[in-house]
Formats: sequence, C-alpha cells, structure tokens
Amino acid sequence: KSIVHVSSFPFKKRYSWIQLAGHSGSFKAGNGGRILKKYCENEKLCFEQLKTDSLAPFVPHYYGITHEDGEWYIQLDDLLAEFDSPCVMDCKMGTRADGKGSTNFKRTKTKEQILQVFIDFVNGNKKVVQAYMTRLMEIRKALETSEFFKRHEVIGSSLLFIHDKNEVAKVWLIDFGKTTRLPSGKTLNHRLSWEEGNREDGYLLGLDNMIAIASSIL
Ligand code: ATP
Ligand code: MG
Ligand code: MG
Repeated sequence: KSIVHVSSFPFKKRYSWIQLAGHSGSFKAGNGGRILKKYCENEKLCFEQLKTDSLAPFVPHYYGITHEDGEWYIQLDDLLAEFDSPCVMDCKMGTRADGKGSTNFKRTKTKEQILQVFIDFVNGNKKVVQAYMTRLMEIRKALETSEFFKRHEVIGSSLLFIHDKNEVAKVWLIDFGKTTRLPSGKTLNHRLSWEEGNREDGYLLGLDNMIAIASSIL
C-alpha cells in the first residue's frame, strides 16, 4: 500500500556518480567523493538535525552548504563511492493516495509487481536480498527510536538501495526536501492510515511491506 513507486536501474559501466531521479540540474559532482544538491532550507534543517539522531548511520553524511557558480548547494557524501559497478534503486516512501508523482519513472502498484521488480533488481541473488533485509531491519529499529522521525512528516523521501557485484548491499534514507517538522508537542505514528488533517505518512507501513517482500524471497 504505502510504497508509491519504485524505479530500478541496474547498470554495467562504472559511473563516478549517477542521478536516478529528481530534477535535472539540481545536482553537481562535488570534491572528495561528495555530491552537491541544490539548496533548500527545509532539507538543510533536516540534515542538520539528523547528524545527531539515531538515523545518522543511515543518512548520507552532511558537510554544510556551499556557494558555486551563483547557486547555493548542500554537500553530501556520494553514496555510490564505496561500490564497484553499483546497481541502484530509488524507492519513494509514504503515500497520499492521490496517485500523483513527480517523475516519469514506472510506477508499481501491487505487492506482486514490487516483488518482481525487487527480484529483477537483485538478479535473483539471495545473498544480496539477505544483506538488504538486515539493513532494512536496522533502519526500522533506528526509525522506531528516532527523535527526528517522531516529530517529522516524511513526504517524498526515498530509500536508496545500492548493491554491487561484490554482494555489498546497503540502504540509505535520502531526500528530505518535503519533510516537515510538526508543531511542538505533536508526534506521528507512521503506521496509521492517512486521513485529512492527521498528517500520517505511512512510512513504517511501507517499510514493513518492503521487509515482508524481501523475506518472502528468502
Ligand atoms: P525528487 O524530489 O524528484 O525525488 P530530488 O531533486 O529531491 O528529487 P533526490 O531524490 O534527493 O533529488 O535525489 C535524486 C537521485 O539522486 C536519487 O534517486 C539518487 O539516485 C541520487 N542521489 C541522491 N542523493 C545521493 C547521494 N548522497 N549519493 C548518491 N546518489 C544520490
Ligand atoms: Mg527524491
Ligand atoms: Mg525531493
């Protein structure tokens, strides 16, 4: 239910950095294995808070803002840097049932379709699925204790899946451009279904589904 869309893109050539989704022109290669993403105040605030949160190990390291060629950017670790010929999947989390999405990538709807996309993405490799499962469970644990997550409505954020031919497989939380802090004192459950005004984002429902799908392969 909660996984709005998945785009997968296994590729063979070594790229120093590749943008799989998002607005073209909003990224640039940075120095020393970093990437630059066009500045958005909201996202900067999220990355600042995430630095000291239980989610920190699962978010690209943030190095502050920088000004280049007349534009402000946030500087992040290039998550692809540690991989050898990586396969990458951007899985947008959460739902607002209206079916509107911001990209032209294929949108997948049923559990069976997601399962098939996932199997194709890992090329049927169970060792890779197992590594992803372990990582997703660590992420769920971190989310359930995260002060940041409790107090934010997480919309349009993704889990970025990356593995390579050495069977190294990791997942990170990325894209906090539309993640907003709730009014003081308000918290979210992230598993309740969305109703007008409750601001629930279904993030953990989507993650539970993803973990169930991965374990059904194993
Ligand atoms: P949109 O809102 O349309 O989803 P966006 O412009 O906010 O896109 P992101 O979703 O943050 O951009 O990133 C787009 C793509 O760039 C991701 O799917 C991923 O492939 C790549 N990407 C983003 N951050 C990183 C990173 N730190 N390291 C490596 N690749 C990244
Ligand atoms: Mg995105
Ligand atoms: Mg975005």
